[in-house]
Amino acid sequence: MINIAIDGPSGAGKSTLAKAIAKALNIHYLDTGAMYRGLAYAALQAGVDVKDQTQVERFLGTADMKTVYADGEQRVLVNGRDVMPYIRTPEVSKAASDISAHPCVRMKLVSMQRDVASQYDLVLDGRDIGTFVLPNAKHKFFVTADVEERARRRFREDLARGIKSDFQSVLENMRERDRNDSSRSLAPLKKADDAVLIDTTDMNIDAVLDFVLSILKQE
Ligand code: C5P
Repeated sequence: MINIAIDGPSGAGKSTLAKAIAKALNIHYLDTGAMYRGLAYAALQAGVDVKDQTQVERFLGTADMKTVYADGEQRVLVNGRDVMPYIRTPEVSKAASDISAHPCVRMKLVSMQRDVASQYDLVLDGRDIGTFVLPNAKHKFFVTADVEERARRRFREDLARGIKSDFQSVLENMRERDRNDSSRSLAPLKKADDAVLIDTTDMNIDAVLDFVLSILKQE
Protein backbone atom coordinates (compact mmCIF):
# COMPACT_ATOMS: atom_id res chain seq x y z
CA MET A 1 0.00 0.00 0.00
CA ILE A 2 1.17 3.55 -0.74
CA ASN A 3 0.55 5.92 2.18
CA ILE A 4 1.23 9.64 1.90
CA ALA A 5 1.23 11.57 5.18
CA ILE A 6 0.46 15.32 5.16
CA ASP A 7 0.77 17.04 8.53
CA GLY A 8 0.73 20.64 9.66
CA PRO A 9 -1.22 23.27 11.60
CA SER A 10 -4.79 24.43 10.86
CA GLY A 11 -5.33 26.44 7.71
CA ALA A 12 -1.98 25.63 6.09
CA GLY A 13 -3.70 24.11 3.04
CA LYS A 14 -3.29 20.42 3.96
CA SER A 15 -6.73 19.27 2.94
CA THR A 16 -6.75 21.14 -0.39
CA LEU A 17 -3.35 19.64 -1.15
CA ALA A 18 -4.28 16.13 0.04
CA LYS A 19 -7.47 16.12 -2.07
CA ALA A 20 -5.52 17.29 -5.13
CA ILE A 21 -2.89 14.56 -4.62
CA ALA A 22 -5.61 11.91 -4.22
CA LYS A 23 -7.22 13.09 -7.46
CA ALA A 24 -3.93 13.22 -9.37
CA LEU A 25 -2.94 9.71 -8.24
CA ASN A 26 -6.47 8.29 -8.22
CA ILE A 27 -6.22 7.06 -4.63
CA HIS A 28 -8.38 7.58 -1.51
CA TYR A 29 -8.13 10.59 0.80
CA LEU A 30 -8.61 10.35 4.56
CA ASP A 31 -9.31 13.60 6.41
CA THR A 32 -8.40 12.59 9.98
CA GLY A 33 -9.47 16.01 11.30
CA ALA A 34 -13.01 15.16 10.14
CA MET A 35 -12.94 12.15 12.48
CA TYR A 36 -12.01 14.31 15.52
CA ARG A 37 -14.56 16.88 14.41
CA GLY A 38 -17.28 14.24 13.95
CA LEU A 39 -16.71 12.84 17.42
CA ALA A 40 -16.60 16.36 18.91
CA TYR A 41 -19.86 17.32 17.20
CA ALA A 42 -21.63 14.20 18.47
CA ALA A 43 -20.26 14.81 21.98
CA LEU A 44 -21.50 18.42 21.98
CA GLN A 45 -24.91 17.21 20.80
CA ALA A 46 -24.98 14.77 23.71
CA GLY A 47 -24.18 17.56 26.19
CA VAL A 48 -20.70 16.21 26.99
CA ASP A 49 -18.06 18.56 28.41
CA VAL A 50 -15.31 17.83 25.89
CA LYS A 51 -12.56 18.91 28.30
CA ASP A 52 -13.67 16.43 30.98
CA GLN A 53 -11.84 13.14 30.58
CA THR A 54 -14.35 11.05 32.54
CA GLN A 55 -17.32 12.35 30.53
CA VAL A 56 -15.43 11.91 27.26
CA GLU A 57 -14.40 8.34 28.15
CA ARG A 58 -17.98 7.42 29.00
CA PHE A 59 -19.25 8.99 25.78
CA LEU A 60 -16.60 7.21 23.70
CA GLY A 61 -17.88 3.87 25.02
CA THR A 62 -21.36 4.62 23.63
CA ALA A 63 -20.28 6.20 20.32
CA ASP A 64 -20.14 3.77 17.41
CA MET A 65 -17.82 5.58 14.98
CA LYS A 66 -17.27 4.56 11.38
CA THR A 67 -15.39 6.06 8.45
CA VAL A 68 -16.70 4.82 5.12
CA TYR A 69 -16.32 5.76 1.46
CA ALA A 70 -19.42 6.46 -0.63
CA ASP A 71 -18.65 7.15 -4.32
CA GLY A 72 -15.01 7.67 -3.31
CA GLU A 73 -15.98 10.38 -0.76
CA GLN A 74 -15.21 9.96 2.92
CA ARG A 75 -18.15 9.97 5.34
CA VAL A 76 -17.95 9.94 9.13
CA LEU A 77 -20.82 8.15 10.85
CA VAL A 78 -21.51 8.35 14.57
CA ASN A 79 -24.16 5.91 15.78
CA GLY A 80 -25.27 5.49 12.18
CA ARG A 81 -25.67 9.24 11.48
CA ASP A 82 -23.59 11.00 8.82
CA VAL A 83 -22.15 14.01 10.70
CA MET A 84 -20.12 15.50 7.80
CA PRO A 85 -22.55 18.40 7.14
CA TYR A 86 -22.21 19.72 10.71
CA ILE A 87 -18.50 19.66 11.52
CA ARG A 88 -17.08 22.86 9.99
CA THR A 89 -18.36 25.43 12.49
CA PRO A 90 -15.99 27.39 14.79
CA GLU A 91 -17.57 25.69 17.86
CA VAL A 92 -16.82 22.23 16.47
CA SER A 93 -13.25 23.32 15.51
CA LYS A 94 -12.59 24.31 19.11
CA ALA A 95 -14.28 21.21 20.55
CA ALA A 96 -12.32 18.94 18.15
CA SER A 97 -9.07 20.42 19.39
CA ASP A 98 -10.15 19.88 23.03
CA ILE A 99 -11.47 16.35 22.59
CA SER A 100 -8.43 15.28 20.55
CA ALA A 101 -6.14 15.88 23.54
CA HIS A 102 -7.59 12.89 25.46
CA PRO A 103 -5.42 9.78 25.00
CA CYS A 104 -8.51 7.50 24.93
CA VAL A 105 -9.85 9.46 21.94
CA ARG A 106 -6.53 9.44 20.08
CA MET A 107 -5.99 5.70 20.60
CA LYS A 108 -9.43 4.88 19.21
CA LEU A 109 -9.23 7.19 16.19
CA VAL A 110 -5.60 6.35 15.42
CA SER A 111 -6.45 2.67 15.35
CA MET A 112 -9.30 3.38 12.87
CA GLN A 113 -6.90 5.44 10.73
CA ARG A 114 -4.31 2.64 10.64
CA ASP A 115 -7.05 0.25 9.66
CA VAL A 116 -8.10 2.40 6.66
CA ALA A 117 -4.42 2.83 5.68
CA SER A 118 -3.98 -0.94 5.61
CA GLN A 119 -6.89 -1.31 3.16
CA TYR A 120 -6.27 1.43 0.58
CA ASP A 121 -3.53 3.40 -1.15
CA LEU A 122 -4.14 6.55 0.80
CA VAL A 123 -3.23 10.16 1.32
CA LEU A 124 -4.02 11.24 4.89
CA ASP A 125 -3.87 14.67 6.46
CA GLY A 126 -3.67 15.51 10.14
CA ARG A 127 -1.24 16.53 12.86
CA ASP A 128 0.49 13.29 13.84
CA ILE A 129 0.33 11.05 10.76
CA GLY A 130 4.08 11.04 10.03
CA THR A 131 5.14 10.92 13.68
CA PHE A 132 2.61 8.59 15.26
CA VAL A 133 -0.15 7.12 13.08
CA LEU A 134 2.10 5.86 10.27
CA PRO A 135 5.72 6.47 11.27
CA ASN A 136 6.83 4.17 8.44
CA ALA A 137 4.87 5.94 5.69
CA LYS A 138 7.03 6.18 2.59
CA HIS A 139 6.09 9.79 1.84
CA LYS A 140 5.78 12.50 4.48
CA PHE A 141 5.15 16.22 4.08
CA PHE A 142 4.80 18.93 6.72
CA VAL A 143 2.80 21.85 5.34
CA THR A 144 2.79 25.16 7.16
CA ALA A 145 2.28 28.93 6.66
CA ASP A 146 2.34 32.11 8.77
CA VAL A 147 -0.49 32.13 11.29
CA GLU A 148 -1.95 35.39 9.91
CA GLU A 149 -2.03 34.00 6.39
CA ARG A 150 -3.65 30.79 7.67
CA ALA A 151 -6.30 32.83 9.50
CA ARG A 152 -6.98 34.89 6.33
CA ARG A 153 -7.54 31.67 4.36
CA ARG A 154 -9.85 30.19 7.01
CA PHE A 155 -11.78 33.49 7.23
CA ARG A 156 -12.32 33.49 3.44
CA GLU A 157 -13.37 29.81 3.53
CA ASP A 158 -15.86 30.50 6.32
CA LEU A 159 -17.37 33.39 4.34
CA ALA A 160 -17.63 31.21 1.23
CA ARG A 161 -19.41 28.55 3.28
CA GLY A 162 -21.83 31.13 4.65
CA ILE A 163 -20.39 30.85 8.19
CA LYS A 164 -20.44 34.26 9.92
CA SER A 165 -17.15 35.13 11.60
CA ASP A 166 -14.76 38.03 12.10
CA PHE A 167 -11.07 37.96 11.29
CA GLN A 168 -9.81 38.62 14.85
CA SER A 169 -11.74 35.71 16.34
CA VAL A 170 -10.61 33.39 13.52
CA LEU A 171 -7.01 34.42 14.23
CA GLU A 172 -7.43 33.90 17.99
CA ASN A 173 -9.12 30.51 17.44
CA MET A 174 -6.23 29.48 15.18
CA ARG A 175 -3.58 30.56 17.71
CA GLU A 176 -5.36 28.70 20.47
CA ARG A 177 -5.64 25.53 18.39
CA ASP A 178 -1.92 25.80 17.49
CA ARG A 179 -1.12 26.02 21.20
CA ASN A 180 -3.42 23.09 22.11
CA ASP A 181 -2.26 20.88 19.25
CA SER A 182 1.45 21.52 19.84
CA SER A 183 1.42 21.18 23.61
CA ARG A 184 -0.63 18.02 24.25
CA SER A 185 1.43 15.19 25.69
CA LEU A 186 0.38 12.36 23.35
CA ALA A 187 1.23 12.76 19.65
CA PRO A 188 1.45 16.56 19.47
CA LEU A 189 1.63 18.53 16.22
CA LYS A 190 5.26 18.10 15.17
CA LYS A 191 7.22 17.70 11.97
CA ALA A 192 8.60 14.17 11.55
CA ASP A 193 12.39 14.24 11.11
CA ASP A 194 12.05 12.64 7.68
CA ALA A 195 9.14 14.83 6.44
CA VAL A 196 9.63 17.38 3.65
CA LEU A 197 8.82 20.87 4.95
CA ILE A 198 6.67 23.10 2.70
CA ASP A 199 5.95 26.70 3.69
CA THR A 200 2.90 27.71 1.64
CA THR A 201 2.69 31.36 2.84
CA ASP A 202 3.62 32.65 -0.62
CA MET A 203 2.65 29.63 -2.72
CA ASN A 204 -0.61 28.83 -4.43
CA ILE A 205 -2.06 25.32 -4.48
CA ASP A 206 -0.88 24.58 -8.03
CA ALA A 207 2.72 25.36 -7.10
CA VAL A 208 2.51 23.20 -3.95
CA LEU A 209 0.92 20.32 -5.85
CA ASP A 210 3.53 20.45 -8.63
CA PHE A 211 6.29 20.40 -6.02
CA VAL A 212 4.81 17.40 -4.16
CA LEU A 213 4.11 15.43 -7.36
CA SER A 214 7.67 16.05 -8.54
CA ILE A 215 8.99 14.56 -5.29
CA LEU A 216 6.61 11.58 -5.45
CA LYS A 217 7.80 10.86 -9.02
CA GLN A 218 11.46 10.87 -7.96
CA GLU A 219 11.06 8.32 -5.17
O1 C5P B 1 -7.56 19.39 10.48
P1 C5P B 1 -8.74 19.95 11.23
O2 C5P B 1 -8.67 21.41 11.50
O3 C5P B 1 -10.04 19.55 10.61
O4 C5P B 1 -8.69 19.19 12.65
C1 C5P B 1 -9.55 19.55 13.72
C2 C5P B 1 -8.83 19.30 15.04
O5 C5P B 1 -8.64 17.89 15.21
C3 C5P B 1 -7.42 19.90 15.12
O6 C5P B 1 -7.39 21.21 15.67
C4 C5P B 1 -6.69 18.94 16.02
O7 C5P B 1 -6.85 19.30 17.38
C5 C5P B 1 -7.39 17.63 15.83
N1 C5P B 1 -6.63 16.70 15.02
C6 C5P B 1 -5.65 15.95 15.66
N2 C5P B 1 -4.96 15.00 14.97
C7 C5P B 1 -5.20 14.79 13.67
C8 C5P B 1 -6.17 15.58 12.99
C9 C5P B 1 -6.86 16.54 13.70
O8 C5P B 1 -5.42 16.13 16.84
N3 C5P B 1 -4.53 13.83 13.05
